Parts: sequence; structure tokens; C-alpha cells
Amino acid sequence: MTGMRVSSLLLGLVGEMVYFMQAISDNTKNESVDRRPCAGAALLLKLFPLFLLLISFFLSSAVFASESVRVLIMDKRKTVTLRSTTGLIAEGAHAGSNKKKITFGASSLGRTPVRVRASGGGFVRVNGKQYRGWIEIRKRRNRTLRVINELDIEEYLMGVVAAEIPHRWEYEALKSQAVASRTYALYIKENTGRKSYHLVATVNNQLYGGGLGERERTVRAVRETRGLVIAYDGGIIPAFYHSSCGGHTENASELWGIDVPYLKGVDCDCQEISKYGLWEKRFSIARISRALNRKGYGITNMRSLKIESITPAGRVRDVAITHSGGVLSLPAETLRAAIGYSRIPSVFFEPAVRGKEVVLSGRGFGHGVGLCQWGAREMAQKGKDFRSILSRYYPGTKVVPMDELR
Ligand SMILES: [Zn+2]
Repeated sequence: MTGMRVSSLLLGLVGEMVYFMQAISDNTKNESVDRRPCAGAALLLKLFPLFLLLISFFLSSAVFASESVRVLIMDKRKTVTLRSTTGLIAEGAHAGSNKKKITFGASSLGRTPVRVRASGGGFVRVNGKQYRGWIEIRKRRNRTLRVINELDIEEYLMGVVAAEIPHRWEYEALKSQAVASRTYALYIKENTGRKSYHLVATVNNQLYGGGLGERERTVRAVRETRGLVIAYDGGIIPAFYHSSCGGHTENASELWGIDVPYLKGVDCDCQEISKYGLWEKRFSIARISRALNRKGYGITNMRSLKIESITPAGRVRDVAITHSGGVLSLPAETLRAAIGYSRIPSVFFEPAVRGKEVVLSGRGFGHGVGLCQWGAREMAQKGKDFRSILSRYYPGTKVVPMDELR
């Protein structure tokens, strides 16, 4: 990318300017040598802070090449109402033609998507929720509307980090999350293919709450890690993360068949502080059968649920369910998905059948791959910075500015 070349040129310019100003400054101070008033130099000295400010502005935009993301924020809507106190501007329209409220329905849209932003760069309220950047409204074939928010990745992250991690947590944990979320978003963007958006605003990718989700401390964590991403061998990584691993993170190859050195299981001390340390969940046998049968498994008179195999980290890989039709073997994550990801917090469990109930005694919350948020917090409490936190959970990686990626 050209960002680095431009930035080193600007750095050179700043260096020259500082040298030049120092020369003038030394000259004016050295009164015994020359006492003549130098109006030009005095003016330049006064303007120097302004000049530095301008240079640093260009520098920051040059070092971190701007990267936008497209986020699906609403789908299958009959109408979409946009509002802005400063006025709305449609792409290509005159700035003077702005309204404060526009309602779109399928009949008011053609084949071409409409793109709208707030004049002056403020927030746009979309059906009551506020967002930065562009709002794109597309008509789908079934005459419902799809809403995509296109904005700078840094602004997107302001609405992600506070939604993904408590904003009162230790600062280095927030910064770790900011870098992991930026890396994940950029990775997904680069691997999206031909869809009209890169990311969805839910747990399927990352939670994104728009402007309402922003908090002062998480915004600072995003700003202070601006442009930084996690790279392995110079390339961006899929930086998966989760809430609480239960003591050992998981190999991505166990879950998704991704066999890479930076997504291998590592020991973690989250159990010392995690509120998901140990848990117990109870489900009636009837409920488990119903949930699995809705997914197409023909379970009748379920009698037992046992562990069939476990991962090296200790999570359940497959469970065996004995019922009147025989023994059904299925991945534990499939069982978790069928019952609900928050109802079965993780597959790090021991099952037992007691009467008409299945009791799961487990630990941790989430899939267990990559950064463990509670583990990051535990490390931050012990004084570790975000770089050492990230290098623990993504072994062999480096934190680099995104324009240094290959
Ligand atoms: Zn952990």
C-alpha cells in the first residue's frame, strides 16, 4: 500500500520543518549575535503549532489507510424511517436539498439502492437506532427492505467493543478486544465474496450497537489502537474470540477444521475470576428430544446422554444418545446449537441423566477458540499489556498496522 510511503514522506517533511524552526528559534534567542527584529520568523513560530496539527492530521490519515466496512443492520423490513437533526443527504443529491425525516417503503424504491447520510457527518437514526456513516437501503425480491450501514472500520469498532465486552473492565483488556475485533472484521471483509455486505450486527459475526453502543472507555481503546491488527507471517488472521474458556482454549481444528498454529489451545487463568467459571444446567429429556427432532433427528424414548469423545482440551466433541431407535452420535456443538447457545454456555461439560432430567455440569462460556475475554481481563489485572495478551491467545502472531499486511 502507498500509505507508508506517503507517511514517511510526511515524516521527512516534519523533520525538515522542525530542523528549520529550531534554526530560526536558535537565531532569535542568540541575541548577542543578531538583535535585528525578525518579523517573519516570529510569525512562523506562532504558526508552528497549527502547522504541526495540520501535518499530524495528514499523517494519521496517511499511516492508516482508510478502510470501510458494510454491516447488515436490518433486514426484511416493510418500512425504514431515517432521521437526522442536521438533515439527511442522499448520495448524488445537492447538499441544500436535505430533509430531517425520510420514510422508505418497497414502492418508493427502485432497483438501485439509495444511500443516505447526515449532513455534517452526524448520526442517522434508522427506525430509532443511531448510526454513523452511510445508510444504504436495498429492495429485496420479496419487496422487503434491507439496510446496510457503510462506515469507517474505526467508527464501526466504537459500536462493537462496548457491545462485546463490559466497558468498565481493565483498559488493556478493552484494547485487546479492539484489536481482535478489528482483525476479525477485516478478515471477514477480505473473505466475503460477492455479498452486498461484509458483516452482520449480531453474534453471528460481532455484536454492533451503532452509536447507542458507544462508551467513552471503549472508544478510547479503539482510538489508541487505531489501525492495529493481528498478523501471522504477515497475513491477517481470523481472530476468533469468546467469553470464557473454562481453563484451556480450544484448537480451531476441533471445531471448524481450521488447522493453523495461531488458533491452538493454550492454558488460561480465567477460572480465577470468570463469572461463568462453573455452572449447572438442567433440561427435561422431553425438551432435548423435541429440540433435536426439530433439526431432523428421529429420537424416540431417549434413555441416556453420554460423552462419546472429548477434545485434547477436555471439551465434549461428540455425545451419544441412546433411544428406542438405537444409539445416535452427534457433535456436542450441534446439541448446544439446538438447545440454544446461552442455555448451554459451552461444550466443556459432564452430562448425567437423573430421572426425567439431563443435568449438564460445565465450565466457561463460548466456543473456546482464540482470545478468552475473561482470561484477557485476568492478565490485564496482573499488569499485562494488550500485546502480550494477544500473543498468548494467538501464539506466534504479531500486532501490526493494517497497511503493513501483505
Ligand atoms: Zn480462559
